[in-house]
Amino acid sequence: MTNKAPTQPARVLIVDDQPTNVLLVHQILSDEWSTFFATNGIEALLLCAQTLPDLVLLDVNMPELDGLQTCRQLKENAATCDIPVIFVTGSSAPADEDACWSAGAADFVAKPINPTTLRHRVRVHIALKRQSDQLRELAFSDSLTGLANRRQFDVSAAKEWQRARRQQVPLSIVLLDVDFFKRYNDRYGHSAGDRCLARVGAALRAVAVRPGDLAARYGGEEFILLLPETGQVGAITVAESAASRIRDLDVVHDRSDVAEVVTVSIGVATAAPAVDDDDSAWQALVDSADMLLYRAKSNGRARIVGAVAGQDGGPLK
Ligand code: GH3
Ligand code: MG
Ligand code: MG
Repeated sequence: MTNKAPTQPARVLIVDDQPTNVLLVHQILSDEWSTFFATNGIEALLLCAQTLPDLVLLDVNMPELDGLQTCRQLKENAATCDIPVIFVTGSSAPADEDACWSAGAADFVAKPINPTTLRHRVRVHIALKRQSDQLRELAFSDSLTGLANRRQFDVSAAKEWQRARRQQVPLSIVLLDVDFFKRYNDRYGHSAGDRCLARVGAALRAVAVRPGDLAARYGGEEFILLLPETGQVGAITVAESAASRIRDLDVVHDRSDVAEVVTVSIGVATAAPAVDDDDSAWQALVDSADMLLYRAKSNGRARIVGAVAGQDGGPLK
C-alpha cells in the first residue's frame, strides 16, 4: 500500500553501477519526480525494503547481484513485489528481453536512452502504480475507521497462522464489541455512532503497534486484533490496554447499564498451532474468541475473558 499522500511527487529509485548513467537518468527525471539512487543490487534491495519507492529503474548488467537477480528478489518479497521495475538495457536480443519479462519487469527502456521515451514510460507506470495502490486501499480498508477491513484481516490472519505453525510460535486474537451500541445510536443518532466507532478504531490502532500486529474492523461495532507471536499473557495485556484506551476516550453514553461512557467487552483467544494443524484449528480459535466475548457480555459487559485453545477458558476478569 502507498505510504504517502498521492500529491507528493512519486519517488523513483535509479539503480546503475555507472555513476554517469545514474546522473544522466537523474537529469532526465528529477524535474518531475523525486529521484534517489543505488549503485548495486544489494543496496537497491535494502533501499526498496526501507523506503518503498514508486518505481525502480534497473540496469541489467551489474557486478555481483545483477539486475535480473535483483528484480527477482524484489518480486519474491511480499513488501516490495508491487513496485514496478523498468529495466534499462543495452541489448535488444529477444532472449535478453525475455529474461527481463520473466524476472518480473513492468517494462524496459533501451540504451542509449531517449529522454522522451524514458519520461513517458515512467509517467505511465507511476500512474498505474498509483491507481493500483488506491484500489488496494479501497479493497482492504474500512472507510469509516481507516482500519483494515474484514478482507484484509482474513488475508493477514491466514499468513500469520501459517507462519505460527511453521515457526511453532503462539498467536492470539482479541475480539471486541462495543457495549449497548444500539442504544448509543438510538440516543445520540447514527452519525454520532459513526464518530464513536471512528474514535474506537483510532484507539485500537494505537494499541496494535508491534510489527505484524493488525487492528481491523470485523463488522458493525465489532473489532479484532491479530497479535502474532503473542501468548496469552501478552494478549491480555494488549486487551487491557485497548479497554482502558477506549474508556479514556470518555465518549458519554448515558444509556449504558455498565458505565457512563462507551465501553467494550472482549474475548481473547490464544493458540500455539501444531505443524499439522489445518484451517479448522484456525476456525476453532476464532470461534473460541467469539464464545469468550459472549461470556464477557453475559458476565456483565465491560470486561475481558481469555483462554488458551484446548484449555478451559475460565474468566480472567
Ligand atoms: P451488546 O452490548 O450486547 O453488544 O449490545 P449492542 O446494542 O451493542 O449490540 P447489537 O448487536 O444489538 O447492536 C449493534 C448496533 O451497532 C446495531 C447497529 O445499528 C449498530 N451499528 C453497526 N454498524 C454501525 C455503523 O457503521 N455505524 C453506526 N452508527 N452503528 C452501527
Ligand atoms: Mg455486536
Ligand atoms: Mg455491541
